[in-house]
This record gives sequence, C-alpha cells and structure tokens, in this order.
Amino acid sequence: MNLTDRDRQHLWHPYTQHKTAQPAIAIVRGKDALLWDENDKEYIDAIASWWVNPFGHSNTVIADAIYKQLTTLEHVLFGGFTHEPAILLGEKLLQILPDNQKKIFFSDNGSTAIEVAIKVSLQYFFNNNQKRTTIIAFEDAFHGDTFAAMAASGISLFTEAFNGMFIDVVRIPVPIKGREMASEAALKEAIKNNPCAAFIFEPLVQGAAGMVMYTPESLDQLIQICHANKVLTIADEVMTGFGKTGKNFACNYLKQQPDMICLSKALTGGTIPMAITTFTQDLFDAFYDDDINKALFHGHTFTANPTGCAAALASLSLLETDTMQHNIARVNQSHLAFQKHIQNHPKVSTTRVLGVIFALEIKIESQESYYGTMRNKLYNFFIEKGVVLRPVGNIVYILPPYIITQQQLEKVYTIVEEALEIV
Ligand SMILES: *Cc1c(COP(=O)(O)O)cnc(C)c1O
Repeated sequence: MNLTDRDRQHLWHPYTQHKTAQPAIAIVRGKDALLWDENDKEYIDAIASWWVNPFGHSNTVIADAIYKQLTTLEHVLFGGFTHEPAILLGEKLLQILPDNQKKIFFSDNGSTAIEVAIKVSLQYFFNNNQKRTTIIAFEDAFHGDTFAAMAASGISLFTEAFNGMFIDVVRIPVPIKGREMASEAALKEAIKNNPCAAFIFEPLVQGAAGMVMYTPESLDQLIQICHANKVLTIADEVMTGFGKTGKNFACNYLKQQPDMICLSKALTGGTIPMAITTFTQDLFDAFYDDDINKALFHGHTFTANPTGCAAALASLSLLETDTMQHNIARVNQSHLAFQKHIQNHPKVSTTRVLGVIFALEIKIESQESYYGTMRNKLYNFFIEKGVVLRPVGNIVYILPPYIITQQQLEKVYTIVEEALEIV
C-alpha cells in the first residue's frame, strides 16, 4: 500500500469532507520552494504551506539551530523556570515590534495566541472592576478554530454548528475602498451600544477571506476610535507577520499602535508550532497584584519550548538579512508586473498586491460557495500542473516562500493565467 492509501485508513484531515475529498497527496521531501510526492512528482509550494514558510523547506540554518538546541536543552517547563532562547527571542522581538509592546506570552498556535489576547482583554476589565464582555470583530474575519477565536471569526460556514455557544461578538464591515465610513460608523455604534472590551482585526489583509485588503489609514481611524473609548485593540498578525506585507509587521504601516499583537505561522520559519501574544505595560500591570486571582491563569504544556524559540531566533536572523529583504522586494515587484499584465483579462474582476501577497478574483456568473465547483476545478488544475495553490471560492492568491526563484514564480503566474481559460 502506498502512503496515500495508508493515510486513508486512520487519519482525519483538517477542513476535509472525507466522503468527497480527493485522496491526500503524500509528500516525502521538500527543499526551498519545492515539494516532492511519493511518486517523485514535483510541486511548487506557492502558498508557503499555509503561509508558514518564508525561507524554504528543509532550511539548513533553522535545522542546525534546532539540532543544536535539541542536543543542549530540548524542553523545560516554563512554570517557575526560564531559559536563554526564550529570553533572547523576547528581547529580539521587542526590538522590531511597535515600541508600545513590552511583554511576551508564549503559546502553541495562532488560535491559542488569539485565545490569550481575548482572555486578557476580558480579564483586564474584570481586574479593573469593570464589566466589559463584548468583542468587536470584522465581517469575514478569521482568527482560528478554538472557541473564542472561532467566535471572533466571521466565516459562518465553518462555525454554524456552534451558534449560540459563543462569547458576545459584534461584527463591523471591513473598511475596504468605499466602505470606510460605514465601518467607522458601525464601530462607533458597537461601542455605544455594548460593553466592548476589545476590537480584534487582521491588519491590512484578511487572509482566509481571500486576501481582502484595506488601507492603513482606515485602520488607524478605527484604532483611534477604540483608543478614545478605552476599548483595547488586538492585531492578529498570525498571517501578516514577518515580512509578508513587505514590512516586518503590518502594524509597521500604522500611525496608531495596537495594545496586543498575535504572532504564529512564520514565527519559526514553518518548522515548529509556536505562537506569541505581546502586550503593553498597561495590560501587564492590570494583572500585577498581591492578589493571586488577578494573575493570568492560562498556560500550555509546551509554553516557550526552547527548540521552537531556537527555530524562531534562526528565522529572525534570516529575515533580517539583505538577501531576504531583497527577496521580499523582488517577489513584490514581480507580483506588481504580473498584476499589470493580468488585470484587464476578461475573466478577471479585480486584483490586489501587498508585499509578497498577490490575489485575483475571477468573474462569476452566479454565486459560488467556498466548496463551489470553480474552486475545485482550479485546485485540481493547479495540482495537476505541479503548483500548490488553494483558491478561496473564485479568489486565487499567491503567497510564496520569499526564496522562490524567479523562474518558479514565473511558472506560477503562467499556470494561473492558463487556469483562467478552464473556468
Ligand atoms: C491561521 C490563522 C489563525 C489561526 O492559527 P492556527 O495556527 O491555525 O490556529 C489565526 N489568525 C489568522 C489571521 C490566521 O491566518
């Protein structure tokens, strides 16, 4: 039996209806932007394995750092203990994050980073003897699959089964072009009518919604309204962090600074699951007390895993290099050139680019769902051609590892253009 068949006997995959899904492709190795399956077919990983892998598969700099850490101290509990990789990572991150960020809390994945931010928001007001229990979030947001993260997410197809079991969330429109005023007005209404604790958002790009983009100016406006009303702000940079928008963080485009920032995905260069939530001093101080009940009683067994920290430190050192910054700029320039080339194609309705992120929307006659036929047709076409792309409905996006070669990137564009002919 091959790996694909053995997989099918026991394994349950994410976001998969096993009755109708194609068998999973068994990948046996990866190098840089390439993956190979068990039949030695080659694929270009044009979505960086769900946005986690900026520096390429099987990166030896990160692998060496992991090996060194594994053979020095693989793990130690973080309750009552600490270690240099966590300390160094905290110091390094605070150097590059917005300067109001002062405290680092570790967890395991994007969803837990969000849970921590939401729990801290709610307990912040509790500790200050105020009852504020509502979270404000964008329509079509995606913040993860654990309960509070799911509550804040607005993609209802994923969360229908749990309606009525969520924390209180008020949803406002995304300030895409033309909707800035509607978004601001809805935010003000939400704050006026509800005891709002925090506003959570994916800064500048909503990934899972299909790389929906909006301007820093419009987000600054919303954050400012929150600041004026003492509503906390949570920037979910799980997708946007570590160079994807062309700057280290999407928040670097803002004038206003959020109170909390959530990081994961590319944090360890796509190697080890790890996440971080960062906080202002004011947030930390609300938990700092003689009363033990004011502490943050949240933690995960593998909190601040030293091997993950070592991988993150190696990743940050790669991100900082001129070579990597040059790669980010190169991918961005290529995207812009492709955008110019493709935007007037009769099958294309809109295109957008920010940093290494490119998205195009295909014109549709009737409303197609996420699982619509167009999406599956496109996906299968890309896989057949040896390119890993996962369209969201009628939206095709490219988010490659920064180290993708120019030749590989051109091949991805060519195949995206060819795909327009089959829909
Ligand atoms: C992927 C993602 C999450 C969830 O992260 P997981 O590691 O999958 O739990 C949260 N927010 C955003 C913006 C994401 O892209």
